[in-house]
Amino acid sequence: MKPVIAANWKMNLTLTEVKELLHEISDAIRTSNDVSVMICPSNNYLLPVQQFCMDQGLNVMICAQNISEYQPGAYTGDVSANMVKSCGATHVLLGHSERRHVFNETNDMLKTKLSYCKDTGLIPVLCVGETLTDREQDKTESVIKQQLSILSGFDGEFMVAYEPVWAIGTGKTATPEMAQAVHEFIRNECPEECVVLYGGSVKKANVEGLLQQSDINGALIGGASLVAEEFSGIVSLSNQMAVKKGV
Ligand code: PEP
Repeated sequence: MKPVIAANWKMNLTLTEVKELLHEISDAIRTSNDVSVMICPSNNYLLPVQQFCMDQGLNVMICAQNISEYQPGAYTGDVSANMVKSCGATHVLLGHSERRHVFNETNDMLKTKLSYCKDTGLIPVLCVGETLTDREQDKTESVIKQQLSILSGFDGEFMVAYEPVWAIGTGKTATPEMAQAVHEFIRNECPEECVVLYGGSVKKANVEGLLQQSDINGALIGGASLVAEEFSGIVSLSNQMAVKKGV
């Protein structure tokens, strides 16, 4: 399985900056055939990103950051699953911790969104992770088990991203051993072929140790994905590791 290196741009960048960043990272993507790169732009930029990748012959998976919990209709400002699909997204992040904590997304809402993935063929990337309090109270596995439970009965392809809430955008990363322990737990709860990404302050300096772990199949990267040199470095390094491993 090729490692997946995913850039979550969150609510950042103007269209001009998107184009500049794509230009700057395109060499690393083009020369890294042993990794699969995924870009999660704002919905506004799905089409321009798709267009850029087509024009440049870049093999990139395009992932929306969110979809509406409603079916198409009178929901001003919302964007539905079939809309993002029609603009080039093949994947969608579901349940990112910022959606859960800032926008109060619940497992029930995520279940509904999951059903739209099934209807449209979008591949969900379900984000799971414990807060610092959960970890301190030894509840990491039970919290994650509950977050994963919405996948029961979902028979399509999906990915999981383990992102400890205390590590997102904080500069604190789980040690490779800590991350591996949770990934092993997730792996045992999911089909064998499921891609399980790690996210939480991943950068060039720490990606190697994380990707060496047997149950970590790639990384979901926020802050560092906005810095061309960092993201290109992560893609190239992951590619070198994959080549050495012979994936
Ligand atoms: C994320 O947004 O999914 C993330 C992991 O962010 P950061 O890399 O900035 O911690």
